[in-house]
Amino acid sequence: MSCDLKLYSVATHKINRYSKAIYIKRIVFLGKGRFSLGRFSFSQDLGIDLGTANTLVFVKNKGVVLREPTVVAKNIEAGEIEAVGNAARNMIGRTPGNISVIRPMKDGVIADYDTTAVMMQYYLKKAMRKRSFFASKPNVVICVPSGITMVEERAVIDATKQAGAKDAFPIAEPFAAAIGAGLPVWEPTGSMIVDIGGGTTEVAVISLGGIVTSRSIRTAGDDMDEAITQYIRKHYNLMIGERSAESIKMDIGSAGEVETNEEMEIRGRDLLTGLPKTITITAEEISASLNDAVEDIVNAVKSTLEKTPPELAADIMDRGIVLTGGGSLLKNIDQVISDETKIPVFIAENPLDSVAIGTGKSLEYIKHFQTNPNVSSHPTIE
Ligand code: ADP
Ligand code: MG
Repeated sequence: MSCDLKLYSVATHKINRYSKAIYIKRIVFLGKGRFSLGRFSFSQDLGIDLGTANTLVFVKNKGVVLREPTVVAKNIEAGEIEAVGNAARNMIGRTPGNISVIRPMKDGVIADYDTTAVMMQYYLKKAMRKRSFFASKPNVVICVPSGITMVEERAVIDATKQAGAKDAFPIAEPFAAAIGAGLPVWEPTGSMIVDIGGGTTEVAVISLGGIVTSRSIRTAGDDMDEAITQYIRKHYNLMIGERSAESIKMDIGSAGEVETNEEMEIRGRDLLTGLPKTITITAEEISASLNDAVEDIVNAVKSTLEKTPPELAADIMDRGIVLTGGGSLLKNIDQVISDETKIPVFIAENPLDSVAIGTGKSLEYIKHFQTNPNVSSHPTIE
């Protein structure tokens, strides 16, 4: 480090005294940067969680700097992007005919590549806006939904590079989630992670830096919202929007039996009269409507346990199952999984951020990903 500083000092001698002052300032900044950034010097490497519901960007030494919905609003007539992220999400269910709101990763596959590429570039540029003047191009570890094909994964990597990354490395979602949740993924012990996102739930058993067994199903938060919408339509002839269904789930939804019978007022459009209407719904009804989705998730956990080698299964019994992803915030889901498997269940500290934190932490292990295909390969989605 001192060597670099000397070189800069020598260079400044040839510059007049005004610009010299500027150079000296930069040297001080560089000196600090060197200390804190360690061997990766000036580059601020990034971790990206390209989720079906939310996209997060982690900047090395800073943490998660961006959390926005994986949503894009597009003007279909002009073929132009109208809004990305939060701004686009606010338009869901409220657009005129010429604007379409797209969730490009909704079912764990890329619905529209061009839109995804524009969205990635928008997020990367936003996250890198405050980078130091001296920062070199960042390396990026990126987590993509496991349903996407190798070709689509390649396409996301290319989009990431186009947006200014030096290189981009894919990482399997449950592996990133496990690292982010602080599980001992490199040790010879079995860790089970269940990541309940918007479009997919991923269950995996990890040991010695690799995924031993895993399962990915297309039942997660979105299906819960859909189940609520269907229930209210069927029993109350009331049509509600996607975002209302999600807030009902978050407010009074729960897995299993309800303990306190809360109620909630819901507004929507009466299917018989066509007019706006308000109804009151109970937590018990919502919980019942979520039963099928919860059962699918429990079954995915059970079937993964059945495929787990006995030594690792014993480790999991001792250490418990860890839940991540926004779906793990559904009330009581940890208790239901624990009751059904007879294994203790814990929710990660920041379940919505675990994958992004995991991509960030794994920037240290880029070499491992290049040589260990098991980590970056995808389980087949069902
Ligand atoms: P992804 O990784 O697929 O982008 P996330 O991990 O960001 O998904 O989780 C998003 C899902 O979590 C959404 O379906 C959202 O409705 C759900 N979610 C977020 N908070 C809660 C909550 N408090 N209760 C129930 N579900 C929640
Ligand atoms: Mg996720």
